[in-house]
Amino acid sequence: MPASMPPAGQPAELWQESLSDLITDPRELADFLQLDQRLDPAGEQALAQFPLKVPRAFAERMEKGNWRDPLLRQVWPSFTEEREAPGFTADPLRERHYNPRPGLLHKYRGRVLLIAAPHCAIHCRYCFRREFDYRENSPARAEWREAFDYIRGDASIEEVILSGGDPLALGDGQLRWLLESIAGIPHVTTVRIHTRLPVVIPERVSGELLAMLRGCRQRVAVVIHCNHAQEIDAPVAAALKSLHRAGVSLLNQSVLLQGVNDDAAALSALSKRLFSENVLPYYLHLPDRVAGTRHFAVTLEAAEAIMRELQACLPGYLVPRLVREDPGKPAKTRLI
Ligand code: SF4
Repeated sequence: MPASMPPAGQPAELWQESLSDLITDPRELADFLQLDQRLDPAGEQALAQFPLKVPRAFAERMEKGNWRDPLLRQVWPSFTEEREAPGFTADPLRERHYNPRPGLLHKYRGRVLLIAAPHCAIHCRYCFRREFDYRENSPARAEWREAFDYIRGDASIEEVILSGGDPLALGDGQLRWLLESIAGIPHVTTVRIHTRLPVVIPERVSGELLAMLRGCRQRVAVVIHCNHAQEIDAPVAAALKSLHRAGVSLLNQSVLLQGVNDDAAALSALSKRLFSENVLPYYLHLPDRVAGTRHFAVTLEAAEAIMRELQACLPGYLVPRLVREDPGKPAKTRLI
């Protein structure tokens, strides 16, 4: 192979092995990181409601002996989740109101979102869909046709977003079928894939996946949902390079999380690291007020102060837009 050719991507079976070998026991994670669980016990109720799931490759990027590690904080099912917090609810975005067909959400003009997969490779404790009804939104192929008929019947829909769960947690056969079904709808010009897989299990960027994305009729954008520069190690960088060379537009959106990335230095380092891997930062979300996530909340005032610092130290194209999702609004609310 000439030196300029992109890497072929990893063999398919590697990522499936990683996906079936996740850390799901908090004791195992605490032991691996040499942490004393008595200092921040895992909450039994929190675990029952939203179990622990951490890929080993992601755990290896955490600092041993550090309860404040920014990657650990994103996944640790702390007992503090179980404290009541007024204003924090199961469905703060009222997504069930925008769910006209199983598996399909239509919130904004011109684009629809498909709940392509009911599961993820990692459980992020701040997730706004941690109580989403995936059983009601896991269509079989026959039911997916209803969603495709809905898209076909509305010529204003130009973009289909694959979300979840994590769409890249699907096997290649089902993913190919979804992409081919979307490719058959003439007015859809863009497919956007929201996924944590290239970051948490970079082997997911296999040769098969790259070939599939390269062969798409529509433009393809992949949004990688990375919150901290420490998440990007050499295998993640290689996966992103392969996606870029396959012609995929790479974007990032982060959530502003207390104790993870709520300072300008961390966000500036993240933007620079992303850009060095051909990824543009575009959104920084104020966290949604989801039950169990009070400990991640950042006030609007604090978020605006961080943004002013970021604007002072980064070129404009590396400053993500600070946004909040307000249910019922025609677009995300841009805050600064
Ligand atoms: S990968 Fe995305 S959908 Fe899955 S738990 Fe994390 S934030 Fe939620």
